[in-house]
Amino acid sequence: MQPPDTADHAPAHPGRDRTQRPPSVDRLLAHESLQPLIESHGRAPVLDATRDALADLRTRASLGQAGAADFLPESIASAIGARLATSAQPALRRVFNLTGTVLHTNLGRALLPDPAVAALELAARHSTNLEFDLARGARGDRDELLEGVLCEVTGAEAATFVNNNAAAVLLAVNTLALRKEAIVSRGELVEIGGSFRIPDVMARAGTRLREVGTTNRTHLADFEQAIGPRTRLLLKVHTSNYEVVGFTASVAQRELAALAHAHGLPLMVDLGSGALVPLERWGLPHEPTVQEALGDGADLVSISGDKLLGGPQAGILLGRRALIDRIKRNPLKRALRLDKLTLGALEAVVRLYHDPDRLAERLPTLRLLARPRDEIAALAARVAPQVQQHLPPGYAACPTECDSQVGSGARPSDRLPSAGVAIRPTVRGRGEGRALTALAAALRALPVPVIGRIVEGTLLLDLRCLEDEQTFLEQLPLLRRPPPEAGPA
Ligand SMILES: *Cc1c(COP(=O)(O)O)cnc(C)c1O
Repeated sequence: MQPPDTADHAPAHPGRDRTQRPPSVDRLLAHESLQPLIESHGRAPVLDATRDALADLRTRASLGQAGAADFLPESIASAIGARLATSAQPALRRVFNLTGTVLHTNLGRALLPDPAVAALELAARHSTNLEFDLARGARGDRDELLEGVLCEVTGAEAATFVNNNAAAVLLAVNTLALRKEAIVSRGELVEIGGSFRIPDVMARAGTRLREVGTTNRTHLADFEQAIGPRTRLLLKVHTSNYEVVGFTASVAQRELAALAHAHGLPLMVDLGSGALVPLERWGLPHEPTVQEALGDGADLVSISGDKLLGGPQAGILLGRRALIDRIKRNPLKRALRLDKLTLGALEAVVRLYHDPDRLAERLPTLRLLARPRDEIAALAARVAPQVQQHLPPGYAACPTECDSQVGSGARPSDRLPSAGVAIRPTVRGRGEGRALTALAAALRALPVPVIGRIVEGTLLLDLRCLEDEQTFLEQLPLLRRPPPEAGPA
């Protein structure tokens, strides 16, 4: 038996009575102010939110933190509405990437161009010929839909596709060197993004890693001496996220390919970011292209879809037909295959490469990387005063020059001249660090969270990736709200 609910018999003058109770759940649910919430969210979520809001109110009342107005059904309804709005928010949200790292792995890397978004939607809404050969009216191969366009653009003989580049390396090594050996230079045993480590991937692929050379120097003779009866593969890994400088030596890919072929072995190159066109054309630092790697004798090249290529998350293996065919027969391929949404989007992105002249207009990743510094500086000059105007007291914002980076494995030492807004606490010294982290938190609490970076006592908003200026500016007035941590529990 439930105890009788005495809430409905609250005194006529709420607030004057310290034993005041909130209205009952049933009375609230029947109240007119809750009807629109029930209409839009459904009865069960509103019931849950009502119980939570009432529990919260009782707690605050017991601490003497609730006034008479808080007990009115209208006030409780608005608290319930706020709870529902928060919990109805999807977990995956849009953010503003003002970190200065264009291909930021934690913020989702490449942004897709419109034709890719249209392809995603098509594949999501409709049945497709994903694995159906329309000409023959028989079962088809999903990879073939993409293979043609990728081979056209890169000149590769064949291609296959998996979930990401980590999967591509795992699958290729497992296919070509299971229970046998693959040789890699000690200078290339990379860790990428904290979880992709070449030695660990090789171990999971069931391949014995034969390390050769030293961290800073590896010579052709090191590879030559390591080749034995169990060797099945030479692997070259693009050391994408770091550089070894000083007294260094590595083996040119052409020489390594010649050595591999002299011993009847394939050379695989894990290229990582996978540019499909020379980026110098847009004033960007050189990044080895798939065509170069194939031209320098690689039998197999692996790349990511969502780095410099500018597409969705995917792993792409390109190279000799015989190797690709073996890889496609590996049962792991089925476990790692690309899904239809990605496949459609990737095809649409790769098609844009047919027309390199318009690539920088159409491909968001390239557009952002090639965005002229002057354009970003003009944006910073427009935006900085508005940021200043809406900042809580105690901060100063001004336009500034800064450096962006490509991210996701392109060389970290290559800087792209950029501009942004620098925000500093006006009072320096004690509490300055806390003031900066509090402001960073307030920016993250905006409806479209703004992610900047803190450098040397400054919160820097690099505007290279800010294209939707209006949405950014519209939400700035909300910065003066109390931060969520400081609000009522
Ligand atoms: C990024 C990268 C990977 C991992 O690729 P994902 O698509 O993130 O799985 C592997 N190798 C190299 C050289 C890379 O740059």
